Amino acid sequence: MKRMFTSIAVAGAVAGGLAVSFSADAARAAGPTDQDIQKDAETPGDVLTYGMGLQGQRHSTLKTINTETIKKMVPVWAFSFGGEKQRGQESQPLVHDGVIYVTGSYSRLFALDARTGEKKWQYDARLPEGIMPCCDVVNRGAAILGDKVYFGTLDARLVALNKDTGKVVWNKKVADYQAGYSMTAAPIIVNGKIITGNSGGEFGVVGAVEARDAETGELVWTRPTVEGNMGTLNGKESTMTGTKNASWTGDLWQTGGGATWLGGTYDAETNSIFFGTGNPAPWNSHLRPGDNLYTSSTLAINPDNGEIKWHFQTTPHDGWDFDGVNEFISFDLKKDGKVIKAGAKADRNGYFFVIDRTNGKLQSATPFVTQTSWATGFDLKTGRPIYNDANRPPNPMDGGGAAAGQGKPIFAAPSFLGGKNWMPMAYSPDTDLFYVPANEWGMDIWNEAITYKKGAAYLGAGFTIKPLFDDYIGALRAIDPKTGKIVWEYKNPAPLWGGVLTTAGNLVFTGTPEGYLKAFDAKTGAEVWKFNTGSGIVGSPITWEMDGEQYVSIVSGWGGAVPLWGGEVAKKVKDINQGGMLWVFKLPKA
Ligand code: CA
Ligand code: CA
Repeated sequence: MKRMFTSIAVAGAVAGGLAVSFSADAARAAGPTDQDIQKDAETPGDVLTYGMGLQGQRHSTLKTINTETIKKMVPVWAFSFGGEKQRGQESQPLVHDGVIYVTGSYSRLFALDARTGEKKWQYDARLPEGIMPCCDVVNRGAAILGDKVYFGTLDARLVALNKDTGKVVWNKKVADYQAGYSMTAAPIIVNGKIITGNSGGEFGVVGAVEARDAETGELVWTRPTVEGNMGTLNGKESTMTGTKNASWTGDLWQTGGGATWLGGTYDAETNSIFFGTGNPAPWNSHLRPGDNLYTSSTLAINPDNGEIKWHFQTTPHDGWDFDGVNEFISFDLKKDGKVIKAGAKADRNGYFFVIDRTNGKLQSATPFVTQTSWATGFDLKTGRPIYNDANRPPNPMDGGGAAAGQGKPIFAAPSFLGGKNWMPMAYSPDTDLFYVPANEWGMDIWNEAITYKKGAAYLGAGFTIKPLFDDYIGALRAIDPKTGKIVWEYKNPAPLWGGVLTTAGNLVFTGTPEGYLKAFDAKTGAEVWKFNTGSGIVGSPITWEMDGEQYVSIVSGWGGAVPLWGGEVAKKVKDINQGGMLWVFKLPKA
């Protein structure tokens, strides 16, 4: 990677130094507390968490901007991330005490005056040569607690910076980037612990969820996501994940994937953190018989000790890179006169899952895209998919494939880019609907022979992504979690790759690769406002209140996995210009 770096303090040298010069209490007094973070969704004056609340509902109680007033909404200021290379900007900003903290491509973090856009400070991580992010040099956001802001970097480190100066307080290696590990997700903070996942499922890493003391960066616990690997608690071995060789053969659990690359959510009612886990490695499923737990699953984890409370595997023995990392959003399911403490997940495999979040029991699984070629549905009793066996990519060792080293290609939908990829959906307790940024695409996929080699791609598969329809790929869909029915949809020509926000103003916001930030009527889906930001949007919108006015913000800057991996779809969007800009909007003063 060619890049000029500003000479900001190197981490290792000062790690721990500042931490001991202040008491924890004094540090906490200087910024948001754990309690502030826990109630973030109820306090519209700030945005302290990725997900606009630890449950990740991405709903705001603000309604000054609503389906009527939004027609007058205009930009207030915009800020350029600059730099030689722009690339994908998948970030969600945070707002605290008049300051916006926003991450950019290539592991950058900016602190901006929320009223003017003036830069207060900028931190550029010193990335080594040879980082291996699979799917663009993105970062999805920061976390904040007390006097520090935190984010993960592409060389698999976690950095804590003083929120007022941008100076490094501590900088910890999470994993070995030379083995293919990286970090792109926003951390979450639960009761003084900073909780992160890891990326690298395409390189045969072992996924893990980790908790560190947010003050010192010291590791509290680790929970590997692949059966057979040992967890830790307070520097000692704790418990093994699952049972060795129960769902994996031989030593494959040592390179089994299950990367937790999208981060997690937290529900205080059940004291559970929810992390999705990515694909088993390699992609060629014939090389790893069994369910391959706990890959392509949602895990409920005790934040105090890292123990798994329950798991739900959305794609057992995944053979399509469906991953399973998609966010799990807690909500109250009101059905048949009862309220069930539920959670929902729109999975890359094309199914919308509603799960009892107290015990992991499946309530419903309904397709939210037009084709799910791999399964005909889910058995609600067992919680398992009903496979369409003929549509599993064939074994290259069967029939004549072995000679050529390549298995017979099949067409599968959704493609591995997913019915929904990383981009977070939103839930409105006003409409009781989920708003899901979906895509309609399939792929030709075939398996190949592969052996594990440290730091090399570990797929054993090849693919070409194809659109399903001529007129659209993206579809923003309002889904009723009681029935799984699609209440309304908005079709977009390019694939949707940005997050969603919903508000008490009966609005749903999302961005498009064509550059628009758009707002829709949350009940009807009617488009009520749009503004072109000058580059494709793959970030997640937020809203907050400041000086008695409601603000909306979005990061613009095209990139992410689609241009890199999108096959025929990538050709369709090749003319979209890159960028890197934070936009802020509000209503004109009366
Ligand atoms: Ca808040
Ligand atoms: Ca993957």
